[in-house]
Amino acid sequence: MNSAQQSNLSNTQKVVARFAPSPTGTLHAGNYRTAVFSYLYAKKYSGEFILRIEDTDKARSTKEYEENIMESLSWLDLPFDTIYRQSENVERHKEVLVKLIAEGKAYISKEEVREEGQRAEVIRFKNPNKVVTFFDVVRGNISFDTTELKDFVIARSLEEPLFHLAVVVDDFDEGITHVIRGEDHISNTPRQILIGEAIGAPIPIYAHLPLVLAPDRTKLSKRKGARPMTDYKKDGYEPEALINYMALIGWNPGTEQEFFTKDELISEFNLARVQKSSANFDEVKLLSINRHYLLKKYLEKPEELMERLWSFASADITKHSNFESRKEVVTKNVMERLSYIGEIKKMEETGELAFYFEQPSYMAELLLCSEKMRKGVNITLQTVKEYLVGIQKEIEGMDDKLFTNAESVKATLMPFADSLHRGGVLWATRIALSGKEKSPDPFTLISLFGKEESVKRLQHAQNLL
Ligand code: GLU
Repeated sequence: MNSAQQSNLSNTQKVVARFAPSPTGTLHAGNYRTAVFSYLYAKKYSGEFILRIEDTDKARSTKEYEENIMESLSWLDLPFDTIYRQSENVERHKEVLVKLIAEGKAYISKEEVREEGQRAEVIRFKNPNKVVTFFDVVRGNISFDTTELKDFVIARSLEEPLFHLAVVVDDFDEGITHVIRGEDHISNTPRQILIGEAIGAPIPIYAHLPLVLAPDRTKLSKRKGARPMTDYKKDGYEPEALINYMALIGWNPGTEQEFFTKDELISEFNLARVQKSSANFDEVKLLSINRHYLLKKYLEKPEELMERLWSFASADITKHSNFESRKEVVTKNVMERLSYIGEIKKMEETGELAFYFEQPSYMAELLLCSEKMRKGVNITLQTVKEYLVGIQKEIEGMDDKLFTNAESVKATLMPFADSLHRGGVLWATRIALSGKEKSPDPFTLISLFGKEESVKRLQHAQNLL
C-alpha cells in the first residue's frame, strides 16, 4: 500500500479517538485542550473516547501525575469509555519487536556508549527510505522524505520499547481511528506511519492541533509554569466554563455564539474548523466566560451557590455573629464583582469582606474626600461632621420600606447630599459604612445594613471627629 493514500479506514467505521497523556506532569491547559477536542469529536460521531496513560518512561512517570490527570478529567466532565496503561502492554510490544526482527524489518544494533567505551544494544527500524505523505485534517497533505531519519531506534531492548513503537502498536490494538494531538507531534508522524505499515496497521486519520500559547506567545507547557487544571478546581472555577473556553482555543464555530454547553459543543464541533495558527490562552476571556456560568448558577440555585461561595471564606467570617443574618444580601452584593468563586478568598485577604459583618476601623482623615472631589470647596473635619450628622438625621427619618433597595435609598438621600456637597457627603458616608477607599456605593451599603446598623456606623464616625 502506498502511504500517500489518505487513510485506509472505511467510512462506516465507528470513531475511536484517544487522549494519550504521559503522567510526567500535571494536566494543564495545553494538554487539556487536546483532550477536549478528542472527546468532542468522538462524541459527535457517537464514538469512543479512550484514555491511554503513556507511562513507559519509568523514570519520569508518577502515580501522582496519573491521579492528577484522572482527577482533572473527572472534574471537567470528560468521561472516557476505556482506559489503558501503556506499561501494561510491554509483552505485546516485545512480541511486535520480535516479529519485526524476524521479518528483517528491524534489527539489533550495537552502539558505542561514549563515556565507558562500552557497547550497548538497541533495536533499530529498517527505514525503507521513501516519501511518506499523509493527510492531516487540519493541515491537509503533508509529505516527508524519511531518508533523513536513517534507521531510527524503536527500542532500547525487547523490554524497553520507545515512544514511537509503543504509540503505533497501541493505536492499532485499541482500534484508534483518529489521532488528534498537538502539532508538536507532526514530525513524529512519518516514523509512526512507517512502523504502522511494517506491522500491517491501518493508517489512522490525523488531526494535529495548533499549539496553545501563553499570553507572551511562547508555548504553554508544564515547564513554563502553566497552571494545573486542578488549580482551577481549587479556586472554584466552573468546569462548564473551562470546556467552553478551551473549545474556542483553536476552533471557531463560524458564528458569533460564545457560550456553549457541552452538548452544544458536541453537536457543533468540527475538525474542519480547527485553525492552523496557534492561539493564545487568554485568562481574561476565561474569567468572563466563568462569570457567565457563575451567575447562571446563582440565578438557578442561589442556596447551593451561596454554600459553595462561603466555603471559600474563613471561619472569621462564617462564624461571625452577624454572618447568618447578612449572608444573603452580602452574597448578592459580592456576586456583582466576582469572576470566580475562590476570588472571595482574595477579598477576605484584602479586607474587603470583614466590614460587611462588623464595624470597620479606620483613621478619621479617611472621611475627608480628595482635593479633586472637593472642587474648590474648603472641607474640614468639622464640615464632615456636619455632613454625617445631617445624613444620619435623613436616614433616621426614612420609612423602613425604603431600605429594601439601593435605588430608593439613592432617590431619598441624593437631594440632601446635593444640598450640601455631593462628593463630600457621599464619600464620608461610604467611609463611615465600609471604612474602605474602595467599596460599594453608600446607597447599596445603607440598603444592605438597614437603618439601625447604618446609624450606628455613622455615629461611630462622628465620634472620631
Ligand atoms: N504521550 C504523548 C504526549 O503526552 C502523546 C502521544 C500521542 O498523542 O500520540 O505528548
